[in-house]
Amino acid sequence: MASANSEHSRFMREAIALSIKSVNSGQGGPFGAVIVKDGEIIAKAHNMVTSINDPTAHAEIVAIRQACQKLKTFKLNGCQLYTSCEPCPMCLGAIYWSRVDRVYYANTKADAADIDFDDQFIYEELDLPISDRRLPIIQILRDEALQAFKLWSEKVDKIEY
Ligand SMILES: [Zn+2]
Repeated sequence: MASANSEHSRFMREAIALSIKSVNSGQGGPFGAVIVKDGEIIAKAHNMVTSINDPTAHAEIVAIRQACQKLKTFKLNGCQLYTSCEPCPMCLGAIYWSRVDRVYYANTKADAADIDFDDQFIYEELDLPISDRRLPIIQILRDEALQAFKLWSEKVDKIEY
């Protein structure tokens, strides 16, 4: 499958080029991502955290938003995501929610940690019970909040996802 392999390399090189562009333009961290459907790039993005003041503007998230807008859908089945670095926990969550078929990555999270992009603490937090996490997360007003869940479960014309 030499041709398939070279196609994967082509898409990854595009993601890598975006990561380099991000650094050179001063728009964000050294991360790029593209989303491919049917052999065509439908979204390309790089990290924009510092340029648009959005801590969620990681390359993968920006690319997922672009792809969904382009395809006018909230599900990216049939799509592949190429990211220049192994996704952080936030992006990994977004990737699962987006339903992309597959993820290709280049740099590892250890490579990212070496240049001070260390998301290991988030993985460690996830393993802890809520009460032991460094971020205080406090439950209040569950009874009132459950109203929306009840409405949802009874709604007949809802758009499930
Ligand atoms: Zn991320």
